[in-house]
Amino acid sequence: MDQKFQGGGTYKPRQGEEWLCAKCGQAIESLPFDPRRNDDGSLKGAIYHRECLPPRPPRHQFN
Ligand SMILES: [Zn+2]
Repeated sequence: MDQKFQGGGTYKPRQGEEWLCAKCGQAIESLPFDPRRNDDGSLKGAIYHRECLPPRPPRHQFN
């Protein structure tokens, strides 16, 4: 183990898998998080490049 986590780690597509950005349609080489998956291992929901992420809608704050 000579690789340290940099800012939370990097996740890459599994072998034979391709991640496509839901906004620009280009391949995503890596993500700073592990995308959600279905039980069969397929991706659950859309993924985006960091710069393509839609702005988060303001959420109700639970205080
Ligand atoms: Zn994109």
